[in-house]
Amino acid sequence: IMNKVDNRAANEKKTQTHPCFNGCGSKYARMHLPVAPKCNIQCNYCVRKYDCPNESRPGVTTEVLTPEEACEKFKLVKEKLPNIKVVGIAGPGDSLADFENTKKTLSLIKKEDPSITFCISTNGLLLPLYADELADLGVSHVTVTMNAVNTTIGAKIYKHVDYMGHRYFGEVGAAILMANQLAGIKRLTSLGVICKVNIVMLKGINEYHIPVVVEKAKELGCEITNIMQLIPVEGSEFENIPLVSNREIMSMRKRCESTLKQMYHCHQCRADAIGTLDNDQSINFRGCTGNKNK
Ligand code: SF4
Ligand code: SF4
Repeated sequence: IMNKVDNRAANEKKTQTHPCFNGCGSKYARMHLPVAPKCNIQCNYCVRKYDCPNESRPGVTTEVLTPEEACEKFKLVKEKLPNIKVVGIAGPGDSLADFENTKKTLSLIKKEDPSITFCISTNGLLLPLYADELADLGVSHVTVTMNAVNTTIGAKIYKHVDYMGHRYFGEVGAAILMANQLAGIKRLTSLGVICKVNIVMLKGINEYHIPVVVEKAKELGCEITNIMQLIPVEGSEFENIPLVSNREIMSMRKRCESTLKQMYHCHQCRADAIGTLDNDQSINFRGCTGNKNK
């Protein structure tokens, strides 16, 4: 692996052609490959029969691909959309919960096109275990959803955390998750990987705590935070909690902007999103590898 400074410089260059870091109107496209169906935690705003709402629009179910099918799909899409610069893995579960799938997919695509930028999103639980391997694989951008850095608040957001063969609840589960998020992000940024933190703004739960999370993200060397609206999912624990208004989200972003760069244009795309940020073309490519919606 390159040293930190070189890797950081190379990754920053890739940021220039990464649509999510350049906002709507970017002519570059990204595609998500849905190869990671499992998850190792339970967020109270999530129902696991749908896609992970930490990076994707909730309430949709995406067909899962094997790494080989994903690589086939990449080849097909690349032919039709030559402006694809970024391949992301954002679920439909957690990209590290079944790391073998994620790793295989990235290795296959790297052989196909060594110039592609790799981006993954994760809840961060397994980051300390895989940060070095991710950097070795050439992953330049990682998004971690980190909704709190305080266990009392975290215990209200996470129902349980499955770690090393055991299920942990309440503050203990939250503490394990958070410790791993912090250590994992720190390791990534020390390897020169560009990190973004997603924060779901939850009324009465973490709304006043968000500036502290953003401070922590900055301290860990993150590039940007993305404060997002909760999209309530039917059947989830938080189905009926009141929402913060868009105005409250905007004013929180404004407030946190003095600490760290803020994302204003997130669309919460699907786990199989394809195209530029303003023009999703995923529907045109569903089932294109003959996969039978497993
Ligand atoms: Fe759901 Fe994503 Fe949380 Fe896992 S990390 S429980 S898939 S929201
Ligand atoms: Fe963009 Fe997030 Fe997908 Fe990366 S994982 S390409 S930041 S939407």
